[in-house]
Amino acid sequence: MKFAGGIPQHPVDTTDKSFEALGLGKTIVDAITRVGFENPTPIQAAVIPIALSGRDVIGLAQTGSGKTAAFVLPIAERLTHGKGVRALILAPTREIAMQTKAFLDLFGADHGLSTACLIGGVKMSPQTDALRREPDVLVTTPGRLLDHANRRHVKLDGIEVLVLDEADHMLDLGFLPQVRDILRRLPRERQTMMFSATMPDSIEMIASEFMHDPLRIDITPAGGAAEGISHRLYVVKAEDKRKALRELLLEELGSTLVFARRKIDADWLFHVLEREGHPVTRIHSDLSQGRRVQALQSFREGEHRILVATDIAGRGIDVPGIRHVINFDIPENADDYVHRAGRTARGAAKGIVSTIATWQDLGMVRQIEEILGEKIARCAVAGVEPWEELEKKPSRARRRL
Ligand code: AMP
Repeated sequence: MKFAGGIPQHPVDTTDKSFEALGLGKTIVDAITRVGFENPTPIQAAVIPIALSGRDVIGLAQTGSGKTAAFVLPIAERLTHGKGVRALILAPTREIAMQTKAFLDLFGADHGLSTACLIGGVKMSPQTDALRREPDVLVTTPGRLLDHANRRHVKLDGIEVLVLDEADHMLDLGFLPQVRDILRRLPRERQTMMFSATMPDSIEMIASEFMHDPLRIDITPAGGAAEGISHRLYVVKAEDKRKALRELLLEELGSTLVFARRKIDADWLFHVLEREGHPVTRIHSDLSQGRRVQALQSFREGEHRILVATDIAGRGIDVPGIRHVINFDIPENADDYVHRAGRTARGAAKGIVSTIATWQDLGMVRQIEEILGEKIARCAVAGVEPWEELEKKPSRARRRL
């Protein structure tokens, strides 16, 4: 399979349908063929015909299921160039926004569809220039879009299609007030598509307030996380966490994403691993956009085998072939575990998620197990004594003794 442009590649489950059968025209289908996609993925097969009909859609799907193309293809099919900004895609992070722009540039190239990417952390002026060149589509993070809109660099009154991508992440990151502000500035008559891996109440609320009779398409696998993942838990003493990490990095030599809770921990971990000679880079939201792009690229290209990330920066990272996700710090909630886990075993690939935990994290472990619908295998690494968990004895059995 040949891939063009900046589109990452990894094995993904596809259906036996054809893209033509979903209602896409020849120009787009030719572009799809050039990119190397042969058949649609399940989310694409389900969403594209509905999206083409103009109906509102809630797609429950994770990164890695092909959802970007599920909304980009119908937008590319329906919009022609040169009638003002008509589609708006809101993304939670700069990296996701840039990946989405790469898809739009490829699939919209044949009919001159132009996309401006408005993201924070970089200068406003090149974006203002891009807005002057009459883009048809905006891909943006909420804050930066509002900056431009408040300075009257962009008019949102011609928007016909709105996409909220990774909506649950967007709300987790505290974007709800900004998202509401943006939604209020858009024409009421429009198509809204929302994609999310989970469906918390906040999303239901937005859906009922701002969408019109949406069709809900749910292709998330039972249990919430992708299949093909082996979940492993290492319960250790707090002072042994680093040693456990070191051993895990030696056990699995594939591409590895290590999650730390705070930026300061990510920095510390990065320096520790670098000093020990590991090929490591890092990504978190205090780094400049340039350094974040560079870190992702060197990880993607294999120059650095290990990427240390915080949740915010780790969201939506689409790097093919991540073999191992290591939770150096347990996530703060069970949904975050599912998102972190989703960085590996993308599409049809296999992967490992190793969580290093102390006894204090066991409550969270239980919540994660509940969402996964299975007990996570307790494992041990060489040279680190596992913490002995006490299984609760059934109290009735004790009384009978
Ligand atoms: P996404 O879920 O949008 O992040 O896409 C996940 C990955 O699947 C990306 O690397 C895409 O390039 C790839 N992909 C998306 N749709 C297809 C398809 N129909 N056939 C093959 N690969 C695809």
